Amino acid sequence: MLYRTYRPQKFSELVGLDTVKNTLLSQVKSKKTGHAYLFAGPRGPGKTTTARILAKAINCENPKAGEPGGKCSSCKQIREGRFIDLIEIDAASNRGIDDIRALREKVRLAPSSGKHKIYIIDEAHMLTEPAFNALLKTLEEPPAHAVFILATTEPHKLPDTIRSRCQRFNFERASVALIVQKLKEITKKEKAKVSDEELEEIAKAAGGGFRDAETLLEQVLTGGQKVEELVGAARLSDLGEFFEHLLNKRTSEALFFINNLYGKGVEMENLTVRILEYLRDLLLIKAGVGDELVEVGKEQYSKLCQHADAVTAPQLDNMINKFTQAYEYMSQSAIPILPLEVAVVEIAGGAGEASASKPAARKPDKQKPVKPNDDQWLALMAAVKPLNHSVEALRRSCRLGKVTARTLTIQAFYNFHKEKLENPKSKTVLGAAMKQVFGRPLQLKVELTKNK
Ligand SMILES: [Zn+2]
Repeated sequence: MLYRTYRPQKFSELVGLDTVKNTLLSQVKSKKTGHAYLFAGPRGPGKTTTARILAKAINCENPKAGEPGGKCSSCKQIREGRFIDLIEIDAASNRGIDDIRALREKVRLAPSSGKHKIYIIDEAHMLTEPAFNALLKTLEEPPAHAVFILATTEPHKLPDTIRSRCQRFNFERASVALIVQKLKEITKKEKAKVSDEELEEIAKAAGGGFRDAETLLEQVLTGGQKVEELVGAARLSDLGEFFEHLLNKRTSEALFFINNLYGKGVEMENLTVRILEYLRDLLLIKAGVGDELVEVGKEQYSKLCQHADAVTAPQLDNMINKFTQAYEYMSQSAIPILPLEVAVVEIAGGAGEASASKPAARKPDKQKPVKPNDDQWLALMAAVKPLNHSVEALRRSCRLGKVTARTLTIQAFYNFHKEKLENPKSKTVLGAAMKQVFGRPLQLKVELTKNK
């Protein structure tokens, strides 16, 4: 596991977090560490990693300028996860009742092998009230040998009485640049060749978390997966672009966006989930809880905030409803992309409507229902035009039928047109155009239809 191999073992190995590491380093160096710490911040930047480094530094037999030396038995045992005086409690798993009870019983006992007993309580906000009370009693009179490190993504959920007894450290979201820097160090050590652009894609997809970024990188290095396959499908940054299309009523751009991904073989259900996740993030930010609940990188977060400001609550509500509906219809749809296209058209409005018109009372025009496929058809014909005018001239005599992963069907209204489309020259021209529009080679089928 790359994540374990390259997990920082010293303060200096932490990427970013300058204030946190400098303060802790100088505390350890001057032997002025506290008894209770609160590590607050979103998932990802390294709260528990920092907690373990701190545990090592204060227990180390040969610390160097505040850093753990790494060679003594305490350092080794902590690194291997078998140091008896480091107790990690995951408050999320059983809400900490038994653990805190055990903690109260044992905390007074002197450490078995180290200098200090360290308690790391992860997701501390999940503790129950009795557990908080028990913890508070211990924090009020902590034994000299005990150090508590509470890590949480939601510091506001901790009682004031607990918070006020802790030294608080804020862990900020890592920027994409910082994550790239870390990934670069890893690829260098692994002697792997991954381009800077690809590392950036991975960092963006990981949304501000080192661990997720390293897991993705590992999949690329060991599984031989292409970065594009892994993360390119529905990059968050791209979804921002898609959202802007919707918000600004750019229907055709939004349709091209999803069709382009469809062409690349992206599962439409997955895409819909990603879109809904994006909208959920906006909802959480609008509700004022984005800082705690939205897990993305710094740049992405500020972009999300801009979008949350730009969209009204009813608009957002409408989008969430429409895409949820699309998701429900998807499993029954003959054309997987169609429900998504319908949602786009319903949200952004039909093609050809002026983008400046009133956004609120917008309803699809009843007289001329917009078929989402029309956009694909027009795009296909636009791609044909420079190659062959006579094929493009068939635009009004045919229409687009079913598009599957491998085939594309054109429906012709007259046999004359059908034959024309089926001649080798037209097939070549259409083949090139289909590849351009749908991003994959498709087999052409032409069928005769009576319904104009
Ligand atoms: Zn040591």
